[in-house]
Amino acid sequence: MRIVLLGAPGSGKGTQAARLKAELGIAHISTGDLLRAAVKAGTPLGLKARSVMDAGQLVSDDIVLGLLEERLAQPDTRDGFILDGYPRNLAQANALDGLLARLGQPLDAVLKLNVPDADILRRTELRFKAEGRADDNPDTVRKRLEVYAAQTAPVADFYSQRGLLTEIDGVGPIETIAARLLGALRAQTGAAAER
Ligand code: AMP
Repeated sequence: MRIVLLGAPGSGKGTQAARLKAELGIAHISTGDLLRAAVKAGTPLGLKARSVMDAGQLVSDDIVLGLLEERLAQPDTRDGFILDGYPRNLAQANALDGLLARLGQPLDAVLKLNVPDADILRRTELRFKAEGRADDNPDTVRKRLEVYAAQTAPVADFYSQRGLLTEIDGVGPIETIAARLLGALRAQTGAAAER
């Protein structure tokens, strides 16, 4: 099962992707996590990405695609994966199409978590206090929401036109939202979601 999880920063993608990973036994690939690991390790790529991430902007498509290709070459992705935080713009959506076609691994479903901006600001402020992620400070979150609206929101239409998109209400208890996601997967892919 190969899934893309869409949603604004702070919409719960990471939390829900971890649950889907456990439920479905597939890999969780977060490009934000891959980039944060590169920053932490102080690699040349991480040094380049850091200021862009701290400003709430998108890291260059080439860098992120390179990280993703490397990750998809690892064996735990063979039975499937959940992509969290990728694609972030239409160029990435097209690049992903090409990459997955080359690998012979087309997407099964695209799920989008819908959460109002007011909830996003509240959630990321809590995360900022708990985890201290620089890009969760309220000013940067506003910037990230602008980038999301301008660049990432059109990605939903891209997948809707291919009949792959299901939108999910992302407000409520974590368990409830997890159940909504699994229900949507079942509806989209049939029995495959039961594995
Ligand atoms: P996330 O953890 O997904 O919210 O990502 C944190 C930050 O990493 C984003 O604000 C971007 O600066 C960068 N990032 C993560 N994924 C991507 C991507 N697919 N394309 C470009 N930048 C990304």
